Amino acid sequence: MMSFESFVRLGWSFFRTVLRGLFPRRSQLPRFEAQYRPDGVLSTAAPEVPVQDGAQRCFACGACDVAALERGEFGALGPLGPMGFVVGVSRQAGIDLGVADELPAGLLQALTEACPVRVPFVPLVDLVRRRRAEAECFALAPASHARPPR
Ligand code: SF4
Repeated sequence: MMSFESFVRLGWSFFRTVLRGLFPRRSQLPRFEAQYRPDGVLSTAAPEVPVQDGAQRCFACGACDVAALERGEFGALGPLGPMGFVVGVSRQAGIDLGVADELPAGLLQALTEACPVRVPFVPLVDLVRRRRAEAECFALAPASHARPPR
C-alpha cells in the first residue's frame, strides 16, 4: 500500500503540473537552438525548413551520382558525391559539408532534374554555405559569446 509520504509527493507533483499548465510558458526552442547551433543542429528557421524537407525526400537511389559521373563532375559537391552530400545535409552525418565557391555551371540544376523526387540542390548548396559561414562565426566568437548562459 502507498505510504502517506508517497501520496503527498504524488499529489504535490500533480498539483504543480496542473498549475504549470494554466500559465503559458515561453518556448525553450530558441534557447535550445542557440545552444546547439554551434554543434551543427538543424535550424527551424522558416526559410530553411522547406529546403531540409526537400533534402529529406532523398531515398538514396543514386541517380544524381550517375548524372554527376556522366558529366565528369562526381566530386564537385565533395568526395562522397551528390548523394552523400544530400544525405549529409539532411541527416547531419558529421561529414564536412563544405562546398567549393565555384561549381560547374548547370550542375545543380542537372542533378535536380535527374532526381526522381526533385531534391532542390541549388537552395541546398546555399543553405550549406550559410551554415558554414555561421560555423565560422561561432568559431571566431569568444567562448562566452558562442553559447548562451545557462
Ligand atoms: S537522385 Fe535524388 S533521391 Fe536519388 S540519391 Fe540523388 S538526391 Fe537522393
